[in-house]
Amino acid sequence: MKKILEEIERTDRIAIAGHERPDGDCVGSCMGLYRYLKNALPEASVDVYLEKPAPVFACIEGIEDAKTDSSDAKGYDICIIIDTAADRIGVAKEIFETAKKTINIDHHISNAKGCGMVNYIDPLSSSASELVYELMEERYVDVDIAKAIYMGIVHDTGVFQYSNTTPRTLTAAAKLLGYGFDFSRLIDETFYEKSYLQVQILGRALLESIRFMDGRCVVSMVNRKTMDFYQVGPKDLDGIVNQLRIIKGVECAIFLYETGPQEYKVSMRSNGKVNVASVAVYFGGGGHVRAAGCTMHGTYYDCINNLSGHIERQLNGEEE
Ligand code: AMP
Ligand code: MN
Ligand code: MN
Repeated sequence: MKKILEEIERTDRIAIAGHERPDGDCVGSCMGLYRYLKNALPEASVDVYLEKPAPVFACIEGIEDAKTDSSDAKGYDICIIIDTAADRIGVAKEIFETAKKTINIDHHISNAKGCGMVNYIDPLSSSASELVYELMEERYVDVDIAKAIYMGIVHDTGVFQYSNTTPRTLTAAAKLLGYGFDFSRLIDETFYEKSYLQVQILGRALLESIRFMDGRCVVSMVNRKTMDFYQVGPKDLDGIVNQLRIIKGVECAIFLYETGPQEYKVSMRSNGKVNVASVAVYFGGGGHVRAAGCTMHGTYYDCINNLSGHIERQLNGEEE
């Protein structure tokens, strides 16, 4: 695989962009590559675009440089989009469409072909961060880059727990730890720590969850009114679906929250038997075999009916 620097000229104007509602992997991979390109190409001009990163990411060096407004940003030589296809890049859409060269770095099976002129796509990579790290030359990597990349890997593997963790993942993580940063604190601060309100809404979502298909599926939903009551936003709901997944007997966990009138963001997690990426892709979303998402329209019951039809057919071996 060609290293990323082989695709970039010394004096290029470069934009890096992640996906909407950036998660730990997105922030880690984008910020890691941003600082790396600044180190490696001091004559280039590098910008990074991230939609309002959550406050927990304040510990990532340089996060304050991340731009959210692209209204007068045109004429980039290169646009690199990471951890997503071009359909979820929000403010960076125009930058991507007008850049002279586009590069896509992703690990989503739903984006297997890639959408750039140059594509680094590897669905076997635990995270975009792991993949980005493999595209780097060690001599330009410093402790801040290592920390950002490590955080991305930690988040997408659930602290090296999910089945996407491989010997390759741990080899990368071992090298990154060698740079010396407080990884224990990093994991606590960015991954485990929750505000009191986040824990309360988690508790409520678990309490109101419903099992169906003989306990092989579980679903929970949080509506707008409840989110307003607890004063929480979408980012505060991260992790609820993972708690549903670990219920004994559950093959597939579904979590929805209301994003507008008759509109829901859906998160799905599987314990292996159900390919949730294919369900999400069917409804216009995407993701991985065991973790995927989409946005759906209609009533809550319409959404559940439509999703559970696909899940049940898969569990009965009638659908891939
Ligand atoms: P989530 O349930 O939002 O945590 O997402 C699980 C996985 O699916 C992540 O890797 C997301 O990047 C991906 N994903 C979620 N929603 C979408 C979507 N609408 N389109 C494509 N991928 C998605
Ligand atoms: Mn992501
Ligand atoms: Mn990812």
